[in-house]
Amino acid sequence: MDELKVVIDPGHGGSDPGAVANGKNEKDYTLMISQYMFERFNELGVPVTLTRDTDETLSPTERTQRILSAYGNSPDVVVISNHLNAGGGTGAEVIYALRNSDTLARNVLSNLGAEGQTMRKYYQRRLPSDTSKDYYFIHRNTGKTEPIIVEYGFIDDTPENVRFLEDNYKRLAEAVIRAVALYKGIDYIAPPGLMSNTYIVQKGDSLYSIARKYNTTIEELKSLNNLVSNTLQVGQILRVPSEEDTPSSNTYVVQKGDSLYSIARRFNTTVDELKSLNNLTSNVLQINQVLKISEDDNTMEDDDMDTANTYIVQKGDSLYSIAKKFNTTVEQLKSLNNLTSNVLQINQVLKISEDDNAMEDDNMDTANTYVVQSGDSLYSIARKFNTTVDELKSLNNLTSNLLQINQVLKIPSSSDIPTTYTVVAGDNLYSIARKFNTTVDNLKTLNNLTSNLLNIGQKLIIR
Ligand SMILES: [Zn+2]
Repeated sequence: MDELKVVIDPGHGGSDPGAVANGKNEKDYTLMISQYMFERFNELGVPVTLTRDTDETLSPTERTQRILSAYGNSPDVVVISNHLNAGGGTGAEVIYALRNSDTLARNVLSNLGAEGQTMRKYYQRRLPSDTSKDYYFIHRNTGKTEPIIVEYGFIDDTPENVRFLEDNYKRLAEAVIRAVALYKGIDYIAPPGLMSNTYIVQKGDSLYSIARKYNTTIEELKSLNNLVSNTLQVGQILRVPSEEDTPSSNTYVVQKGDSLYSIARRFNTTVDELKSLNNLTSNVLQINQVLKISEDDNTMEDDDMDTANTYIVQKGDSLYSIAKKFNTTVEQLKSLNNLTSNVLQINQVLKISEDDNAMEDDNMDTANTYVVQSGDSLYSIARKFNTTVDELKSLNNLTSNLLQINQVLKIPSSSDIPTTYTVVAGDNLYSIARKFNTTVDNLKTLNNLTSNLLNIGQKLIIR
């Protein structure tokens, strides 16, 4: 297997804003998505370079020179040139070079589709004056490398669709990363918190079987994935509903035989609390009445889990969905509850964990060491502890980025890390987030920012 190298090319930059619409510039979006992609390829251990890492003007010649000098003129080099389209339309396009097969472009497009983006087309484009040549210089002047232009969507699309592009840029980037990894036989590991909601079609699967597995419907799967037919291909990646899409466990639908007392007991709360939460003036309930069970939407879920340790099976639950909800496995649930089959009954009480799992989070803050878990990388651990990969490597005398499950790592104490940062020329929210191992969303929330615009000299709260 040839070794994959990646050059990421954030389209446009500097004096060339690319497409401009809705008060937004293509060049900013392409830089944001490219910088994210750069980090992720790093995390996956794939050699990766950006053609630009700032708002820089690049001539076509400079751009192709940077591409060819990154890892040489080799077919092992995949070039991902990131763009937004304009001119009226919806959805993604992928354009590949005349010298390459359509495999990568097709994979990229179908993965973007799995993230909910409309799939327009993948295609080649020829120079009208010499149809033996590619139309775009990024294909024409990049030697033997394998370049694709990814048009994620249209910057002049409806506000909803533009917001989709912005809100989901990480997922769209992951779609491309996943497609490249699959294409080159590299292990793809999803980042924590993102992409848990995809499913790779296995032999024997049907939309029906997958819908059942994820407690959803064929219609919802088709709509999530923009599928026009019921035909699936083995290896196809499907988006499946995530927990945020499913109704909150924060409400309860009154069943026949329920009383406020029985419901309070079931959810470890009190009759008074239920009455107050639901503004009830009497104790009378009606079947199918929807009751709020707890105040906060998500924050207490975790506490509930730790303390309650049991779960009452609701309509629509499966062992799989419950395992996912409580970060455990079907096997673990079956063993804890001595189940011999996967069949559950509504209102059945399941034990969720052996008594004490509640300490995990506390350990992390106080102990200053961390035990590597399956799926961890230096990058994810650095992010978790507000530190950097380099610092972790230096503290632990690591010479490579490889970790082993159950390896014990020293973690720097949090007092060394600054809490504010003053914006300098060339910064953007993404680069600052990266510097401090946080996210753009976190920074925006902490600083009450409503846009991504920063001013030089502006003080940002980092954590
Ligand atoms: Zn462009």
